[in-house]
Amino acid sequence: MDDQDFGTRDKRGNWRPHQALKVGPLLDYPWSGLRVLRWLPSYLLPWNAAFFVLACLLWFCLTPPREELATLQFGWIAWLFIRNTILVFLVFGALELRLYIQRKQANRFKYNARFPADAPADVFWFNSQIKDNMLRTFLSGLPIWTAYEVLLLWCWANGFGPWALWGDGRLGLAVWLAAFALILPLIHELHFYCIHRLIHLPKLYKWIHSVHHNSINPSPWSSLSMHPIEHLLYWSDTLIHVLVPSHPLLLLYHFQISGTGAVVGHVGFDRIETSDSQAIKTHAYAHYLHHKYFEVNYADGTLPLDKWMGTWHDGTPEGDRAMIERYRKRKASRKPAS
Ligand SMILES: [Zn+2]
Ligand SMILES: [Zn+2]
Repeated sequence: MDDQDFGTRDKRGNWRPHQALKVGPLLDYPWSGLRVLRWLPSYLLPWNAAFFVLACLLWFCLTPPREELATLQFGWIAWLFIRNTILVFLVFGALELRLYIQRKQANRFKYNARFPADAPADVFWFNSQIKDNMLRTFLSGLPIWTAYEVLLLWCWANGFGPWALWGDGRLGLAVWLAAFALILPLIHELHFYCIHRLIHLPKLYKWIHSVHHNSINPSPWSSLSMHPIEHLLYWSDTLIHVLVPSHPLLLLYHFQISGTGAVVGHVGFDRIETSDSQAIKTHAYAHYLHHKYFEVNYADGTLPLDKWMGTWHDGTPEGDRAMIERYRKRKASRKPAS
């Protein structure tokens, strides 16, 4: 495919799409039901639907039965860890292999023209972004993800929390669970926005979040490459499942959105080519801009949080100018009056 049909490349070879990013219409003003209806397919497909299917596979085929989960035992805890590790290895690894190691589509649709492996940097363990990112994912990301999952499944198995069961005949409950499933990605985005703003406070940024931002040019393995405290904060939104009626399937869906799903923002390519004439849109641009410019797009734009707070970057040259103007004004306001 010719990526010049869909975007432009600057002098450095960095690519940007012609189309400006748009925030999701659910809470955007002026509100339009028609806009919401038109947007819904892109909200569900391909990613959220794929993560729900994955969650079903994990819940129905790869999660121990309730009786087993009721007692904390090494065997099933280790199994959940291995299961999650294999899943992440397969999903992140497949994307990394195809796009960054085999470089099947060269840098077509790649926002940053360069590949991280071509620019070793001493901010990374072993001077290697991929080794550093993988180690952080396996050493603290997956253990902390699994610890939350173990805790919450154990709570469910022991009846701690207002857990609901499918098919107990209450229509209201079924409607709630369906609605909860639909808005789970939005709950995750709202929570992520809040903790993300928190860890961008200068002291916390330096101590915690700079680890994630070392990957200015992210690749799939950058997705969960974080400081352990960021991992702890990142998955704390799953505790909502012991606060409102939920079901373990929705809990596992939540982990797919936030765990495996973290890859969506870090693919680094706008489209993944599947044939000479077809490609899948990745939805990676908003978060790529956050990695590039740091102080824009703290959320992904499904909710208009950045637009409300004046930090939205739509990826266009006008977006660049608005960002530079914002920085200029902020710098001027910090200067002591003379
Ligand atoms: Zn990121
Ligand atoms: Zn950040």
